[in-house]
Amino acid sequence: FELERLGVHDSVEAVFPPSELADYLSDLPIAVGVIGDDEIAACDAVVTLEHREAFLEVDWVHSIQAGVDRFPFDEFEADDVILTNSTGIHDRWVGETVAGYLLSFARRLHVHVANQQERRWDQPEWDEGFTLSGTTACVLGTGTLGSGVAEVLGSLGVRVTGVRRSAEPVPGFEEVYATDDLLEAVTDAEFVIVTLPLTDETRHLVDADVFEAMRADAYFVNVGRGPVVDEAALIDALESETIEGAALDVFETEPLPEESPLWELDEVIVTPHCAAFTEDYFRAVGDIVRENVSRLESGEEFHNRVV
Ligand code: NDP
Repeated sequence: FELERLGVHDSVEAVFPPSELADYLSDLPIAVGVIGDDEIAACDAVVTLEHREAFLEVDWVHSIQAGVDRFPFDEFEADDVILTNSTGIHDRWVGETVAGYLLSFARRLHVHVANQQERRWDQPEWDEGFTLSGTTACVLGTGTLGSGVAEVLGSLGVRVTGVRRSAEPVPGFEEVYATDDLLEAVTDAEFVIVTLPLTDETRHLVDADVFEAMRADAYFVNVGRGPVVDEAALIDALESETIEGAALDVFETEPLPEESPLWELDEVIVTPHCAAFTEDYFRAVGDIVRENVSRLESGEEFHNRVV
């Protein structure tokens, strides 16, 4: 297709200012500008966070997220619309956020920050703190996010195992299990970390049986997608002390409703779907878009093509 006009949809504002990305791409030999819903039809391609019905009229849609579960693949395919995503950029960003959660739990930082809000000097019990070195983390999903988590945790002395559809080894993971052996994979881990995309197969993959199989002193982390986890079963597991705690960046309903018990449970860290936020986000997305504009010119297959 002919690419003459690329729009940066204003929904990306939730992650970074759309004008930063439009400026970053302004040297491309095409028109690039920030657009609202009524300007979609005038574009050949859009870069976006959210989905809009009108995208089915353009030739190419690029998602600024790795997760593309909100886009209707069948309709894109039927209408010959190319969909690309932003996998490949979030490895260290999310890896460092996950390391932050684990360090908080091990060194009790979340408790001290909460106490500080109330000017309370309250030292932990002598046996509350532990060290990450020598612990095991089982990471569900061994792609970009999982590998970034493995790299950062590995540098802290954590032994990292992984779960993917097959048991094929992946660099950075000491052991890899197939999804069929999920219950066995989580049994000995102090940390179980979800970095999975949301698909028909992964929806509610983490359920009561998984929490039951985990150690009683284990922490659960989800930086993938909320519906991969049965949230009611997670809340039960936390309230019944089947597991020790959790750090959660993604939820079945976002924003997390005010009445959710997760806000107030001890040993639960809640972050607002921002595990990958960094000041460099728009540049990394821009580089993928730039690469694909050049591939389009030379007739090569798009990088990160999903549909
Ligand atoms: P990748 O495609 O690089 O990795 C996905 C991984 O999931 C692969 O290792 C794949 O392994 C595995 N996988 C897929 N389906 C299954 C299954 N049924 N059972 C077991 N493993 C499975 O994606 P990314 O790592 O870039 O991103 C993963 C997800 O993380 C995104 O889809 C998005 O939802 C979420 N995300 C969240 C962010 C946040 O801010 N919280 C930021 C970025 C991403 P294999 O193919 O070998 O089975």
